[in-house]
Amino acid sequence: MLLCDFHIHTTYSDGSIELRKTIDIFGQSGFDVIAVTDHVVNTDSTIGAIAHRFQYSVTEKTFDTYLQAVRDEAVRAWNKYGMLVIPGIEISKNYISREKSAHMLILDVKNFIPADWSYEKIFLEAKRQKALTVACHPHAMSGMSKNTYYLWNNREKYAKYIDAWEVANRDDVFSVIGMKQYPYIANSDFHKARHIYSWKTLLNCRKEVSAVKSCIRHNRGVAITLFRN
Ligand code: ZN
Ligand code: ZN
Repeated sequence: MLLCDFHIHTTYSDGSIELRKTIDIFGQSGFDVIAVTDHVVNTDSTIGAIAHRFQYSVTEKTFDTYLQAVRDEAVRAWNKYGMLVIPGIEISKNYISREKSAHMLILDVKNFIPADWSYEKIFLEAKRQKALTVACHPHAMSGMSKNTYYLWNNREKYAKYIDAWEVANRDDVFSVIGMKQYPYIANSDFHKARHIYSWKTLLNCRKEVSAVKSCIRHNRGVAITLFRN
């Protein structure tokens, strides 16, 4: 099965490691498929505005540079490690209220999607781009209290737009996702080198972007594993 991690940040947003080095860390650790998913943060809240001020967000202005850099690294990763790299973003709607906040991955993104758009508009645009949508850390997380409950609390309305939910993120497992029998994957939410040791996805499919997306969407041949040193 393919060892995969679909939730990785770099210095293009709030990750602490530069893109090229991040690719090398995952390539040297034997990963088959990864997605680089830097934050695209909302601007319509104080914490969102602060993220922009400290350049912790990919913006409409920087998106093309970011996408091209990931695509260039994808070529290098394939040649050097046989590792597939998928360009993505993490749409981050950050508010003081955890009930109002939500993060979602857009995997195989092609054009910029503003985080200020409505959920419906974001999901429809992702679908138009034939991208995959993933609800991130949808329930109570350990440690930091940056919980994001909006999509879980409004699942009856939005589940139809969501291709998969994170059943595990870094050290946390969200049993509610399993109980609801939603399509699932597990990711590191990589920001620092040590975050590579975390929950991961295993896929039984070809090492190719459309096969990976289809495997996650149909959620057959998907397993999770705790990757430890
Ligand atoms: Zn997040
Ligand atoms: Zn993240």
